[in-house]
Amino acid sequence: MQKAPLLISGILTHAASAHGDTEIVSRLVDEPLWRYDYRGLAQRAGQAASLLQRLGIRAGDRVSSLAWNTHRHYELFFAVPGIGAVLHTANPRLSDEQIAFTLNHAESSVLLFDRSFAPLVARLRPQLPHIRHFIVLSDRDCFDVGEGAVPCYEALIAGERPIDWPSFDENAGAVLCYTSGTTGDPKGVLYSHRSVVLHALAAGLSGAFGLSAFDCVMPCSSLYHGTAWGLPFAAAINGCKFVLPCDRMDGRSLQELIRNEGVTFSGGVPTIWTMYLDHLERSGEDAGTLERLVIGGSAVPRAMAEKFQGKYGVTIRQLWGMTETSPLGVISTPTPKLTARGQAATDEVIWTRQGRLQFGIELKIVDEEGSELPRDGVTPGKLLVRGPWTVERYFRSEKSALDADGWFDTGDIATLDGDGFMRITDRSKDVIKSGGEWVSSIDIENVAVACPGVKIAAVVGVFHPKWEERPLLVIEPHEDAEVCVKRVLAHLEPHIVRWWMPDAVVIDRVPLTATGKIDKKVLRERYRDYLVAELRLEAQG
Ligand code: ADP
Repeated sequence: MQKAPLLISGILTHAASAHGDTEIVSRLVDEPLWRYDYRGLAQRAGQAASLLQRLGIRAGDRVSSLAWNTHRHYELFFAVPGIGAVLHTANPRLSDEQIAFTLNHAESSVLLFDRSFAPLVARLRPQLPHIRHFIVLSDRDCFDVGEGAVPCYEALIAGERPIDWPSFDENAGAVLCYTSGTTGDPKGVLYSHRSVVLHALAAGLSGAFGLSAFDCVMPCSSLYHGTAWGLPFAAAINGCKFVLPCDRMDGRSLQELIRNEGVTFSGGVPTIWTMYLDHLERSGEDAGTLERLVIGGSAVPRAMAEKFQGKYGVTIRQLWGMTETSPLGVISTPTPKLTARGQAATDEVIWTRQGRLQFGIELKIVDEEGSELPRDGVTPGKLLVRGPWTVERYFRSEKSALDADGWFDTGDIATLDGDGFMRITDRSKDVIKSGGEWVSSIDIENVAVACPGVKIAAVVGVFHPKWEERPLLVIEPHEDAEVCVKRVLAHLEPHIVRWWMPDAVVIDRVPLTATGKIDKKVLRERYRDYLVAELRLEAQG
C-alpha cells in the first residue's frame, strides 16, 4: 500500500477540491462579517504560509496565536503546520504570567494576535525575548503595543503567492496546546499531524459528531483550547459549512448566527449553553435550524439537556475529553440496545454518561494500587486512557507521562459499564471523601442545578471534624431569581443518597477558571472552615 503521510495540508487540499465552494463565515473583532469558501481558505492559508517562510520560519519552529474563533485564526491552523512549523494557540484566559510562560516555553518567534489583545500584548512585550515578529490579525496596522506600528496580516499576505505544500513525516509536531495549569505551570501537549488527522477522522464518525456535507458547524469552544475539539479539521474533511463566532458567545449573538447562517451543529462548555438557553427563554424564540449540540468540558446538567431536547427539539450529546486527548475522548451516543428500552431510558443514559468507547481511545479504571476494577457501571476508579491521539510526554519533558503499559492517568474518577459507557464521578483533586467513602460532587450538582432559579451549582468538600470532609453546596442564582436554601434541600432530598446531602448550602457567586469551568480550588479555600464555624455556633447556641 502507499505510504502517503497523514498531513494537515492534505485536509485543506481535499476541502478545496471536494467542496471548494462550501461557505465559511466569520465574525471579526472590529470588522464586518467575513464570507468566503474552502477554496478561499486554501488560497489565503497558502499566502500566509508563504509570508511565514519569508519571515524565516522553518520546519519545527513555533508560531503563536492569541486569537478568537475567526477565519484568520482558522487560516493559521493550516498555514503554520502546513510548512512543518508548530502553531501554539495561546490561551488568553490564563493570567498574564501564565501566558508569558507559555509563549516563552514554546520559544515562538512570531506572535499573531487579534486587535482586542493589543493591551495584553503591550503588557507582555517586555517579557517576550524570543518573539521577532508581531502581526495583528486585522486589515489595519496596530499602534497600541508600543515601539512603533505592528503590521497587519492583510497587508502582509496580500502580495504573497500561495505555496505548494511540502511533504514530510506525519509524526512531526503540528499544534501545541497548554493545559490551563490550575495546579502548577501550564503543561504543553504537542499534537502531531498524524494524531490531528486521525482525531479529526474519528470526530466526524456517526458514533461521535456524525458530520456530513449537510451540516453547518459552529464551534463555540475556543480554537485556542484543544483546537475546539478538532472541529476546524473535522468540518473541512466532511465538507460542512463553517461558522466562526469570534468571541461573541452570548445568547443573542449566537442566535443571530444560528438563524442567519442555518447552523445545525455546535459544541461548547455548559456555561455557553446556559446563556443561550437563557436567551431563548427570555425572547420566546425557537432554536431555528439547530439540530445537535455536543456539550462537554464539564458535566452536562441534566436539566439543560431536558430543556433543549424537550422544549426546543435539539439533540444533546455529552462529550468528555482533555487537552491530553486532543481533546476528544468519548461522546455519548445511543445504541440499538438502549433504544429498544425506550426514549426515557435512552435519555437517562445518554445525558448522565460522559460518553461511550470509540475506536482510537481505550479506557480502563483502576484502584489506588493500579489493579483494574470491574466494568459494572457502579465501581468508581482512576480513569486511564491510551491511544494514537493521547499524549505520550509533555512538550520539552524528559520523561514519559505514561505508566509501564502505556496508559495515561487522566486525573478523573469514573465508572465504566459493560456497554462501554463511561461516567465521571469527580476529578481526583475535587473528590470528596466523607468518612472514607466517596461522595460524587457531579451527581449532587446535577440535581441542584435543576432547582428553579439556580444558575450554577458547585459542590466542594470542606473540612469536618468528625467526617474529615463533608459536601458544601454553593448556589449562584439567575440574575432576577431568588433561591431559598430550604427549597434547594427539599429539592435534593428525593434524588440523592441521604449521606450525600450537603452539610451547608450557601448563596454566592461561583468563580470560573480560564476555560469556563467551576474553580473548585477557590471555593475550597473560601469555605475551608465554614462547617467548623457553624458547628461552633451551634455548640454555643
Ligand atoms: P483543564 O481544564 O485543566 O485545562 P482540560 O480543559 O483539558 O483541562 O479539561 C479536562 C478535564 O475536564 C477532564 O479531565 C475532566 O475532569 C473535565 N471534563 C471534560 N469533559 C467533562 C464532562 N463531560 N463531564 C465532566 N468532566 C469533564
